[in-house]
Amino acid sequence: MTNLNDNLHAVRDRMIAACARAGRSLDEVTLLAVSKGHDVEAIGELYELGVRDFGESYVQEWEEKVDALPSDIRWHFVGHLQSNKARFLTDRVELVHSVDRKSVMKALNKRSDSTSKVLLQVNVAEDPNKSGAAPDEVVELARRAVQYERLSIRGLMTIPPYSDDPELARPHFRALREASDEVRQWLNSNHPERAKDLSELSMGMTADFDVAIEEGATIIRVGTALFGARSD
Ligand SMILES: *Cc1c(COP(=O)(O)O)cnc(C)c1O
Repeated sequence: MTNLNDNLHAVRDRMIAACARAGRSLDEVTLLAVSKGHDVEAIGELYELGVRDFGESYVQEWEEKVDALPSDIRWHFVGHLQSNKARFLTDRVELVHSVDRKSVMKALNKRSDSTSKVLLQVNVAEDPNKSGAAPDEVVELARRAVQYERLSIRGLMTIPPYSDDPELARPHFRALREASDEVRQWLNSNHPERAKDLSELSMGMTADFDVAIEEGATIIRVGTALFGARSD
């Protein structure tokens, strides 16, 4: 049986060690528990252990869970987003990690009356099987995003190609940080009032979050190391 308490401690130990190597403080890094494929009991147990940020990948699966869980959970949407589904994301979603094109921005901008906090997803490795904007298109994506008054760009997100060797992800994490610096520079020149909101780097999963923290991650998205293997 999965022992969530042991898993959480093991993940925290890895976070602490990575922060120490990087000379960073642990509270600069948010642990986002990616709960897709796991039931409300497991999520509730991690909540009891103190985790408050949870991520889901499918709108319908999230809707089926949300009402059974405490209302102070900060929900993140990390999955590939279709514009026809975007409008079902309610105010209950704290941060949408996967905005990569105009149609999705447009749909989120129409969503009720509240501002959507978003991350721009970057396909750092230009992997044809992954979504996200190419690194040299990110500033253009940001330029479009600022035209929507109810979108707030909070940072960038990436999913590098899977590898058994976490070191192979390092250049991709670095590339995301560099893309973020470019967006910040552009915002500073063109929309300085928005530049300060750009603070998040969502990068690193079970296999490689240690390296991501060393490269500046502010949000790590961890599923398997917390919940155990998914059945999907
Ligand atoms: C499933 C998922 C994760 C978690 O992956 P693990 O390898 O299980 O930690 C992180 N990010 C995204 C976007 C995911 O879809």
